[in-house]
Amino acid sequence: EKAESRNFIEQIIDKDLETGRFDHVQTRFPPEPNGYLHIGHAKSILLNYGLAKEYNGKFNMRFDDTNPTKEKEEFVESILKDIKWLGADWEDRLFFASNYFEQMYEAAVKLIKKGKAYVCDLSSDEIREYRGTLKEPGKNSPYRDRSVEENLELFENMKNGVYKDGEKVLRAKIDMASPNINMRDPIIYRVAHMTHHNTGDKWCIYPMYDFAHPIEDAIEGVTHSICTLEFEDHRPLYDWVVNELEYPNPPRQIEFAKLYLTNVVTGKRYIKKLVEDGIVDGWDDPRLVSIAALRRRGFTPESIKMFVELCGISKSQSSVDYAMLEYCIREDLKAKKPRIMAVLDPVKVIIDNYPEGQVEWLDVDNNVECPELGSRKVPFSRELYIEREDFMEEPPKKYFRLFPGNEVRLMNAYFVKCVDYKKDENGNITEIHCTYDPETKSGSGFTGRKVKGTIHWVSAPHAVKAEVRLYENIVDEEKGKLNEDGTLNLNPNSLTVLKECYIEPNISDVKPEDKFQFVRQGYFCADIKDYTKEHPVFNRIVSLKSSFKL
Ligand code: ATP
Ligand code: MG
Ligand code: MG
Repeated sequence: EKAESRNFIEQIIDKDLETGRFDHVQTRFPPEPNGYLHIGHAKSILLNYGLAKEYNGKFNMRFDDTNPTKEKEEFVESILKDIKWLGADWEDRLFFASNYFEQMYEAAVKLIKKGKAYVCDLSSDEIREYRGTLKEPGKNSPYRDRSVEENLELFENMKNGVYKDGEKVLRAKIDMASPNINMRDPIIYRVAHMTHHNTGDKWCIYPMYDFAHPIEDAIEGVTHSICTLEFEDHRPLYDWVVNELEYPNPPRQIEFAKLYLTNVVTGKRYIKKLVEDGIVDGWDDPRLVSIAALRRRGFTPESIKMFVELCGISKSQSSVDYAMLEYCIREDLKAKKPRIMAVLDPVKVIIDNYPEGQVEWLDVDNNVECPELGSRKVPFSRELYIEREDFMEEPPKKYFRLFPGNEVRLMNAYFVKCVDYKKDENGNITEIHCTYDPETKSGSGFTGRKVKGTIHWVSAPHAVKAEVRLYENIVDEEKGKLNEDGTLNLNPNSLTVLKECYIEPNISDVKPEDKFQFVRQGYFCADIKDYTKEHPVFNRIVSLKSSFKL
């Protein structure tokens, strides 16, 4: 393949293999178990897993659980479930960074022995003060020149619980004048008397991320440690750690830009508030973009993979339009899923000249773009439902659907002509009367005359009643995502619940998560949480029309 068609990470890896820096590829996905994964994480997962596959290498699943404050066991399971669903397979390579605490401790001792780390008694405020600024170099800590022996003893005391939280830290001895502030003797271990979800009370000192992460990678034999752009100026410290610890074949860190989507809410703080305020129905509400939410809305792993690939890998920050994600799910489902008839806002149609009690089972293709999906029998009878918006008493110009005196095609069935209609006292249409022409049956080859409109319908006595949930974006970038007081500027129409929809009866063996096209309405998914045979619930994944063009 030509270099131009390879993304910049592939180009780096190609070169590493060429020059012999590495003779294989090993990647990892290292989430902190402190929340649900979202579409951005999906990009990182599919990127790391995809590279391992592409180079015939290995992919590690590793929980970066070295910080006991924020982590929760409950997230471990949800994260693994989401990754599995996305199709990234870690095989038997599931790791927990907290299992390396002993090795990390020994690594710190090694640095002390090399004269490359020291115990510092400065308070956190003093450390910040001594660190200097971008314009000014820092000052050395007065504890910087402690002897190796003293440092070894003090660090052991730290481990043995002699000190309170914050009383002492272990710092790398690098360069207080470095233009990169991360290199100004960063803290690598702190005292924290806390219970860890995996190691319990065994440790009262915990390694800092910048020290722990390169060690985790090195222990696992990771070659390419891919992270997001905010770690770019931590890379010199990453390299310092693996070099000072003298790992053979040390891993290298590569940064790429985070994925941002427009018109979505991803901040944990905001989502927590939406859940607490009862605006969304949990972290997997179909209007959110956690992986669980996307799945519940009806997105497929294939559509997310397509989306991530279309976004590409880059070093510069940008946001991607939500409409592109919608484009991907349409592309994925259009030739795969059956197209059935569902009426979301029903009004009754009575065909006056159709015999009472008669039922015809019409043969209908499931998806004209996909003959393998076969066909089904759809009942036709005297009483039907059509969409309320497919009838008008006084139609404007170019309205080709049903109105008094007009003839339309009932999709897959007959031509019908409106001969009468009834209204209630509020002016709402209650029933529409039509006549049908038996000569015009779909598939009969009738060519006698043409009609301009085709509408969908369901047979009233056969229809299954269902709840349908329609969605709009929960925020709108153009209107401003936040109010002046910093709260979310929510779209009041982000959810519409339709309680009385009618679906053709071919859905008796539908299971939660099954997907369909409802003709003219979009793609729908049987809700994972709420769908039952007795109370069918469908989520609209996306409508059929799109403003997005590739
Ligand atoms: P937090 O520390 O608040 O949980 P986080 O979501 O980045 O932030 P991590 O668990 O550290 O949490 O993320 C795991 C991996 O996913 C990291 O390698 C990170 O770089 C990557 N990642 C996180 N957000 C995005 C994003 N928006 N786009 C691409 N990759 C991301
Ligand atoms: Mg996280
Ligand atoms: Mg993080």
